Amino acid sequence: MSRMQVISDMLPTWASQAGWGPLLLACITTGVVFGALRRVLLARRGAAVGLQVQARATRSQAAGQPAGTRDVLTGLVTRHEFESTLEESAWQVDHKGGAPLAVLYVGLDDLRSINDGFGLQVGDALLVQAARRLSKLLGAEGPAGTTHVARVGGEEFALLVSGDEAAGIGMGARVCSALARPFEAEGQPLALTVSVGLACYPAHGAWSRLLPHAAAAMRHVRQAGGNGHAVYAPAMAVDLREQALLLQDLRQAVERGEFKLLYQPKVDAASLQITAAEALLRWDHPVRGIVPPAVFIPLAERHGLMGPIGEWVVVEACRQAAVWRESGLRMRIAINISGHQLRHDRFVAQLEQQTRQHGIPPARLTCEITESVAMEDTAQTRIAFQRLRRAGFHVSIDDFGTGHSSLAVLRRLPAAELKVDRSFVVDLEASESARSIVEAVLSVARTLGLRVVAEGVETEAQRDILVRMGCDELQGYLFARPMSAVALALWADGSGPGGSSGGAAAEFRPSLFDPTKPAPMLP
Ligand code: C2E
Ligand code: MG
Ligand code: MG
Repeated sequence: MSRMQVISDMLPTWASQAGWGPLLLACITTGVVFGALRRVLLARRGAAVGLQVQARATRSQAAGQPAGTRDVLTGLVTRHEFESTLEESAWQVDHKGGAPLAVLYVGLDDLRSINDGFGLQVGDALLVQAARRLSKLLGAEGPAGTTHVARVGGEEFALLVSGDEAAGIGMGARVCSALARPFEAEGQPLALTVSVGLACYPAHGAWSRLLPHAAAAMRHVRQAGGNGHAVYAPAMAVDLREQALLLQDLRQAVERGEFKLLYQPKVDAASLQITAAEALLRWDHPVRGIVPPAVFIPLAERHGLMGPIGEWVVVEACRQAAVWRESGLRMRIAINISGHQLRHDRFVAQLEQQTRQHGIPPARLTCEITESVAMEDTAQTRIAFQRLRRAGFHVSIDDFGTGHSSLAVLRRLPAAELKVDRSFVVDLEASESARSIVEAVLSVARTLGLRVVAEGVETEAQRDILVRMGCDELQGYLFARPMSAVALALWADGSGPGGSSGGAAAEFRPSLFDPTKPAPMLP
């Protein structure tokens, strides 16, 4: 059977019935599966239409505008003018029932090095061409085109489009591809990558915070290496001064014992029995209180602090698993592994040493590695995966569907499980494309013999859809929120309240209990 045949056999029937077959096939055969597919689907779902240029009585177009409203180099409007348009559009949303708004903050990643290497003239030529492509994307060419695309910084642009988050994401993808085509300067082609941040009104707060929020999302993409787009999340808004202060404290947090692990159960989809728990890190800051990992992990990654923090997680999770085992609860445990840890030479050896020291069979420890890290496919990550396989650890690909997966790389990985990202689960009830993506993930997983876990399950309707589709395991607030080791042991012991906030009863799988011990005691 040819490779093409194998792949087309993997396509679920819905794909061919709905006419998605060729699209899926194209994505898979080019090696880029779910990330690309998701973007295409989202782009189709809510076409982000550039707002019609509104002839505003109070503001005339370029020719008649007062000096200072247009950027001299590109002819685009300035930040001030853009903000006026934004304010007026937000007013329309609030008072005239207009469609929601999305602001995209677009940064050219490599302009500084082009300025340094080729000179400012070349950099300026690129800026002019980039401005033209963005205007064209909004259907408003020429310097007098629209007040909905602006130059808001040296190498930064902003776009205002009408539509919801999905529409904004669709536009973000189009911005990336429009600016990915090489530019022409002094007779030579020059390529750039861009980072795009997205913030929506009214979903993300006051209109006046939209541009700063979109800029924070853009910085977030940049700090992760650039060349992509991200939707604003509150954790991104920690300003630079705050980050510097946080970093000072983070450097000492391990020695001061400020970290702790919470545990969130995973349940078997068919029986709703608890099969394992995922360890989730929290920083209990003496003044700020609990700082979520989305805030401090990227900071730790950037400043080389993830090594000692990740090591602490391994040691603590193994210690806790041993305490549970001593009390009769043979809990399977999952830990999240950062890219930095995986790339570290000694990582697998440390993991082996800790599990051996605490008497934990490697197969009972799952390493959750995000799709984007797993797909890096560098010599270092390949060696780390080989070592994990040889040592017998269980590997799970986390946040699956958010990055670019290559089937070739996926097949080579020693993974036993794919974790469908929460963003698809959230949309399951309302969006056919989210359902299609989960079906496609299941289909690929079955072909490769992998189990599928869906994370972020919050409603019974989501649970029912996932069970019907054939997901193996579920995790989410419906069953249990992340909880302390003590709370989990109390629950297992039958003397605690359990973790469900949504009324879905889950029980511990009987095989997790050691029959030689009467009942798990508190750690
Ligand atoms: P993740 O590994 O994908 O973990 C799932 C996240 O979703 C957790 O957030 C969890 O609290 C949250 N969650 C679980 N169920 C639901 C639900 O039903 N609804 C909603 N809205 N959220 C749910 P958390 O604990 O804030 O962790 C965020 C991310 O931080 C994790 O995503 C993981 O990538 C990272 N992380 C957490 N602990 C560690 C760690 O020890 N090491 C490393 N490297 N990363 C960690
Ligand atoms: Mg995880
Ligand atoms: Mg995840």
